[in-house]
Amino acid sequence: MNEFFKNNMKEILKDEYDDFMDALSNKEVKGFYTNINKMKDLSFLDSPYITRHPVVEYGYIFDYEKYPLGKFSTFMNGLYYIQEPSAMLVSYLLDVQPNDYVLDMCAAPGGKSCYIGMKLSQDGLLISNDIDSKRAKILSGNIERFGLKNTIVTNDVPVKFEKILPEFFDKIILDAPCSGEGMFRKDNPAIETYSKEKVYECAYIQKQLIDTAMHLLKPGGRLIYSTCTYNTIENEDNIQYLLDHYDASLVDLPKTSEMCEGIHLKEAIRLYPHRYNGEGHFICMIQKNGIPDRKTYKGIKPYISKSNKQLLDTFYSQYLTIHSPELLVESHQHIYEIQPQFPELNGIKILRNGLYLGECKKGRFEPSYSLALSLKKEDAKQYYSYAYNSDAITDYIKGMTLKGTQQKGYGLICINDIPLSFYKESNGIVKNLLPKGLRR
Ligand code: SAM
Repeated sequence: MNEFFKNNMKEILKDEYDDFMDALSNKEVKGFYTNINKMKDLSFLDSPYITRHPVVEYGYIFDYEKYPLGKFSTFMNGLYYIQEPSAMLVSYLLDVQPNDYVLDMCAAPGGKSCYIGMKLSQDGLLISNDIDSKRAKILSGNIERFGLKNTIVTNDVPVKFEKILPEFFDKIILDAPCSGEGMFRKDNPAIETYSKEKVYECAYIQKQLIDTAMHLLKPGGRLIYSTCTYNTIENEDNIQYLLDHYDASLVDLPKTSEMCEGIHLKEAIRLYPHRYNGEGHFICMIQKNGIPDRKTYKGIKPYISKSNKQLLDTFYSQYLTIHSPELLVESHQHIYEIQPQFPELNGIKILRNGLYLGECKKGRFEPSYSLALSLKKEDAKQYYSYAYNSDAITDYIKGMTLKGTQQKGYGLICINDIPLSFYKESNGIVKNLLPKGLRR
């Protein structure tokens, strides 16, 4: 193990250092939170391998070897998100209110965004961004799985938002890229790529991200800064940098007896694996001083051609029990449902502008997988629902067709009554519309 890391940890932990080092050889801890918009029947959680998270609402800890939730079909229709229990605290502590406008600056793969998005109402807004295009696509997939309509996924450098949305957000998560000391027991590559130089390089990037966050946060708004690393250079020193350069105050975060205060920063939380049932984390909340005021901004202009709107309306009236949405944008025949509060994001690379509904092609509307995941079973005129461990679901997830009951056209395949995807039926054959890349 790296000497710089060991010396830092000895200085921070003093006589707890040996316990900490011992804990690094223990099995990693995994948790998950349920999707409150989808999971009404919680009997699924009656298992000796699942316990409640000690703090996080809707959060749990589970034994992934005995109960591999990530492999269950219920993972695919977005009933829960698997996340490490310390990381889960960050989005919980942000305490979003239903109508907040929130930015998750470094969001991929989406562990914090999905929690925030499900707690916001349709009047709230989440912009979920990541600079890395591959990771941003995974983020977009997770937002899709969670069925979120109030979320825009972007793949750009956060500084670009400064001109478009200055002092706009009520809350910001800066879960910063870091040297990853808290990953040392679960992720060996994190040990291999670690160095003293990396710590300083990360601290430099983190300061730039802090500058951007403070420009984007509205007066009275709150920023939560977190890393999965322990050194003070990337944590307390950066918070001091923020306090020295901006008119802001620390918010005292509530702590249980297993949590530690920051180093000379009692308001922050430090989590260590020998004390807290999770991996390592640093969390600090900052409030920008000033009087809150919602600025005017340029909203996105809905646009859809008459012919495509007609195709969409026909699909809805033929196959769904709900009205087709009013606020829509189209891009190269792809149709998205937007919300009135969505801002115009000129110059930003957008991956998902709200809910992707589907594509107009060959004179008809073809519904998307994300539309299916955002619906309730009752929203469709026809559906098939099977138990999560049934042969039908196993076959469907492999990409096989199923035997139907002579329905015609589109309907929803549901797992335990929660939609997974559309199917299309003719002559008693239920054609599989699960995207090929997701079959397994
Ligand atoms: N918040 C995520 C979650 O809970 O699933 C984990 C985020 S991870 C700790 C840090 C992320 O920061 C990575 O996905 C990385 O691609 C992204 N990143 C790195 N540099 C960035 C930058 N300058 N701007 C925005 N994102 C950045």
